[in-house]
Amino acid sequence: MEHRSVVIIGSGPAGYTAAIYSARAELSPLVVAGMAFGGQLMLTTDVENYPGFPEGVSGPELMERLQKQAERFGATVRYEDVTALDLGVRPFLLRTDSGDVTADAVILAGGASAKWIGLESEKRLQNRGVSACATCDGALYRGKAMAVVGGGDTAMEEALFLTRFATRVYVIHRRDELRASRIMQDRVLAHHKIELVWNSVVSEVLGGDSVEGVRIENVVTGATSTLSVQALFVAIGHRPNSDLVRGVIDMDDAGYIRVLPGSTRTNIEGVFACGDIIDPHYRQAITAAGNGCIASLDAERWLAARE
Ligand code: NAP
Repeated sequence: MEHRSVVIIGSGPAGYTAAIYSARAELSPLVVAGMAFGGQLMLTTDVENYPGFPEGVSGPELMERLQKQAERFGATVRYEDVTALDLGVRPFLLRTDSGDVTADAVILAGGASAKWIGLESEKRLQNRGVSACATCDGALYRGKAMAVVGGGDTAMEEALFLTRFATRVYVIHRRDELRASRIMQDRVLAHHKIELVWNSVVSEVLGGDSVEGVRIENVVTGATSTLSVQALFVAIGHRPNSDLVRGVIDMDDAGYIRVLPGSTRTNIEGVFACGDIIDPHYRQAITAAGNGCIASLDAERWLAARE
């Protein structure tokens, strides 16, 4: 059976940065990248705040660069999911479709995934006008009216991106104040194609085979109305991808893995966690990358102390 000193589960900025550092420490890490490799940046257009890219960089290009950098120093990448993980044995045992792997140390870097509103109609019309990724699907609805749900930076980013294709973009937010950063708010509020729909939630997505509109409810007045749109982009936050270790590793109620303060160490010796899977607050590519670096250094030192 294949054995590695370090196996990294996840391939976003945290996972690949952990891989770059572990590889340079000659630990020849294995990255189990997942079927949805590259993480959330694969669904992002322009990354304008990652240091070192004054002109910006596309999310997929940034991920490809991180991956190549990790491979250059000897990391191996497998594009599949971990189907089972046994942290009760030493070395740890990971199951994947292409074979089992044992590991002395494991770095959990599975990131987070988009949340959905939870409507039956939203589910039924997914990929038929309902999406959580404007970058992926926005161009499909060129020349149409679209709506975005959410008041955070993701919703602002999606709305601004959609103005490239949309005749009109409605941003539906459940409060009368946005959560997004000031610069993103300003851009959205100043955009002639974007209209804010305040204090409102989507109560139903309308349409048979494709989205024809959304029913919205004003949470202050209780009034309902209909917006005619052909696409709905849900941008209401994320949930950590920690199901693989639920009940095994300490986590909070939302599923974010708990680490010892000032480190990436989990409650199980030899298991480290980094990036969005531990971070409900910052969730930036650069904070995840920095955290991936710390996880690798923590793992490296733990392995050295063990020897
Ligand atoms: P977020 O900041 O958690 O915002 C989620 C938004 O969705 C909030 O406005 C929230 O409303 C709303 N919401 C949550 N659940 C809802 C529901 N069930 N129905 C309707 N609305 C709901 O998430 P995010 O926008 O994905 O951003 C996450 C982090 O990534 C943030 O730290 C953000 O700054 C960062 N980010 C940065 C950039 C950038 O810098 N370029 C881009 C994207 C994301 P309330 O406001 O009422 O809670």
